[in-house]
Amino acid sequence: MSRLPALFVTHGAPTLPLEPGPTGPFLRDLAGDVPRPDAILCVSAHWETAAPAIGAADPPPTIHDFYGFPEPLYRLRYPAPGAPGLAARAAEALAGAGIACAADRERGLDHGAWVPLMLMYPDADLPVAQLAIQPGLGPAHHLAMGRALAPLRDAGVLILASGSATHSLRDFGRYAYDDPAPGWVAAFDDWLVAAVTEGRTDDLVAWRDRAPENARNHPTDDHYLPLLVAAGAAGDGMGHGGAGRLLHRATTYGIIRMTAFAFD
Ligand code: ZN
Repeated sequence: MSRLPALFVTHGAPTLPLEPGPTGPFLRDLAGDVPRPDAILCVSAHWETAAPAIGAADPPPTIHDFYGFPEPLYRLRYPAPGAPGLAARAAEALAGAGIACAADRERGLDHGAWVPLMLMYPDADLPVAQLAIQPGLGPAHHLAMGRALAPLRDAGVLILASGSATHSLRDFGRYAYDDPAPGWVAAFDDWLVAAVTEGRTDDLVAWRDRAPENARNHPTDDHYLPLLVAAGAAGDGMGHGGAGRLLHRATTYGIIRMTAFAFD
């Protein structure tokens, strides 16, 4: 079994399956570019908990955790099997790093998980477990979770982190779908691409002090933190060989950079 990369993708607006733009074909092709996994561990920006938790429902229900979008979006389902065995292995790996992680046998897949999964693996035939984020515990905690989970990459598991490179929802609606990114969006995304591809993990952790326009692009931490799990799963030390590869860039609605990375 060949080693799988850890991926970070931007899931964009919930309408991505209906309005795939350039990112839909990218995600579809991405599934063919990585070895086919046995199971997927998805870290989504849309499941926030105080303490680490992992979904162990089988099958996990599709959660429509958004409001005011077109009706067809609420009819979409992603009927993937659950992965309670993977959830247990992930919790064990986290426990080995001193991170206690509870199994949640009810929680389904939110749109941060099923939107990219639906585009990547439309047959929904791969088992999925979703890992929660803990904004209250900060970026270093998420890097540590990724490091603890890195060995799963050698065991047929695709670690798929789903957030957003930029995510200023207060500016959503000010720009049309095809508008270019304003300068303050491009400035943050350019910094992010440089920090990831140069392996500057310490900068990624200290992003609130070092990234330009971070407060405007990310008023809250939730859509940034999944990136730290993927970067941690690169499996190497701080700033030494943990660099990611830029896979994709696009802009939607001016404020959402659809940037994606692989950590090989
Ligand atoms: Zn989102």
